[in-house]
Amino acid sequence: MSPLAVADDRALGGSVRVIVTRPARLGAAKAAVDRCLRDIDLAASRFREDSELSRLNAAPETEVRVSALLARAIGEALRGARLTQGAVDPTVGEAVKLCGYDGDFASIAADGLPLDLLVRRVPGWQAVQFDPARHAVRVPRGVELDLGASAKALAADLSAAAAREAAGEGGVLISLGGDIAVAGEPPQGGWIIQVSEDSGAPIALGEETVAITAGGMATSSTTVRRWTRGGVVLHHIIDPATGLPASGPWRTATVVAATCVDANIASTAAIVMGERAAGWLEAAGLPARLVDRSGALHRTAGWPVPEASPSSLPANTQEPRSRLSS
Ligand code: AMP
Ligand code: MG
Repeated sequence: MSPLAVADDRALGGSVRVIVTRPARLGAAKAAVDRCLRDIDLAASRFREDSELSRLNAAPETEVRVSALLARAIGEALRGARLTQGAVDPTVGEAVKLCGYDGDFASIAADGLPLDLLVRRVPGWQAVQFDPARHAVRVPRGVELDLGASAKALAADLSAAAAREAAGEGGVLISLGGDIAVAGEPPQGGWIIQVSEDSGAPIALGEETVAITAGGMATSSTTVRRWTRGGVVLHHIIDPATGLPASGPWRTATVVAATCVDANIASTAAIVMGERAAGWLEAAGLPARLVDRSGALHRTAGWPVPEASPSSLPANTQEPRSRLSS
């Protein structure tokens, strides 16, 4: 197998990994990824006051013309909401904060005093007026957009495309805290990816792997970004119907799709949908690996069962052709 070159970094509040199949092109690919992530952060971060998103949220009831990039991110978030009947919904912003996730995750205390938590449906994505042709957005008063799920996945897709173009040849894989997109010609046998609940888990022989050749993969989990307030464990995936952390049977969902954005819509939705998730994933044709609260695995829509020998490589291959509709 040809050697891969890897660059690790941090951005968007998480880890960044850039892998290229042509080691000489690593510098060019990484520079393109850096530019892309800087642009996304400036457009869509809820953690910096000077981002376009923060300025949009600070101007309720006003039509705001946003950049093409923020318009794209908002368009994807609203598309995800429509395709999941609101299981993913960018109007969770206020609920996320009320649950205690009100700054960059690194600044969130692991433990703290009790919070007053109210069961309250989030305002709902239908309340956002968006004209994609004019990049015009109007957010009602009391609605705070949070693009934490979709913008990171979009960043992975855009970075992969930009890195492949900058590299000029070969293939690239971008992982943003486990939201993965690939572009260009994959290594022989595909990109072999270790499937973990925590993107920070070390690569180890014997862990389940899956190979993809195109598209993206995303993992959503209630086990990683979690904190405790007054003895109550909270996490970062909100059920829009209650405004509280989702409480269904799945603690982690990993999905493969034609893009990282699609994979991410489905992985977040699976956690929120709970019991309904497997049927929805089957209907959408998106291979998924679900982990329940006890750690038991459920593979759906063609996600391959690993071979008996735990260290057997190469991984099962998967053709991530499924695309959620527009
Ligand atoms: P992910 O890890 O891709 O599932 O995205 C989770 C992030 O998206 C959270 O940190 C929140 O910023 C935001 N979020 C939480 N719940 C939802 C939801 N139901 N729909 C859309 N975004 C959400
Ligand atoms: Mg994600």
